[in-house]
Amino acid sequence: MKGIVLNIQRFCTQDGPGIRSTVFLKGCNLRCQWCHNPESFQSALQLGYSAQKCVGCGGCAAVCPQGAHGISPEKKHEIDFKKCTACGKCAEICPADALRVLGRSMEAEEVLAELRKDRKFYERSQGGVTFSGGEATVQMAFLLELLELCNREGFHTALETNGAFSPERAAILCQRVDLFLLDFKLGPVEAQKKWLGVSGLDLRPLLEYLLQKDKPVILRCPIIPGVNDTEEHFRQIRELRRDFPNIQQAEIMAYHDTGKGKWKEIGLEYQLEELKTVSAPQKESWERQIQG
Ligand code: SF4
Ligand code: SF4
Repeated sequence: MKGIVLNIQRFCTQDGPGIRSTVFLKGCNLRCQWCHNPESFQSALQLGYSAQKCVGCGGCAAVCPQGAHGISPEKKHEIDFKKCTACGKCAEICPADALRVLGRSMEAEEVLAELRKDRKFYERSQGGVTFSGGEATVQMAFLLELLELCNREGFHTALETNGAFSPERAAILCQRVDLFLLDFKLGPVEAQKKWLGVSGLDLRPLLEYLLQKDKPVILRCPIIPGVNDTEEHFRQIRELRRDFPNIQQAEIMAYHDTGKGKWKEIGLEYQLEELKTVSAPQKESWERQIQG
């Protein structure tokens, strides 16, 4: 089976225990306004454009079969992303490396071949493979095949997820995933629609199920100034830790602005332009708030 892979990152030490490979699948069912991987929103391949690199040669406009590129007499380059079919012709000829197709269509076995290269690192460090996104469960059939292949290889498997999937999916995933890295972004009483693009997301039923199945969880908590750096939110994190003993640890993922530029590269507007990367002391103070 084929799926759309955004990236396979090797030698990761932040996505679960030991040394790991993290497979980022394209596609997401949320629209977090602070996302630093917005190129993973869409499941399909798409074009990325870096305006700083463009030299205005017009080569892309000449080859694009969809007429998606336009160059003004002042050499100002504009792209109509809606017209683009991600055929890749413009990226092939761009002399400035300003264009690239984001994502790659891969067979599950091709992904496995990449993962096998690091088997000895997984074994020596008690690491393994983590699936992430976007939201990896958006490509559910592909994800399940990848998980099954990893299970057969004896690789430890982790799933980094927002938890926005059905109980039926949870049951299937539990059979193939060793560790859940569960994102807690906003609780059900917070402004989910505004910041995540959905509402009614409640992790408690999933956590209860994972507890029943004795599945370990690492709770990952993105903290975004002005969005969820509130006493109410920290209280919810403490309560989740108290109520679910299968939560091995809770990690603060403090806001950083490294993904800001990516929004523009794919034709999206970034709403949190004024926000700056959170300082280390601020992050430490939040870490103290979720203890207890
Ligand atoms: S081909 Fe590359 S450098 Fe030339 S106009 Fe297009 S994006 Fe810019
Ligand atoms: S990827 Fe293809 S369709 Fe999209 S802008 Fe480039 S040439 Fe046009």
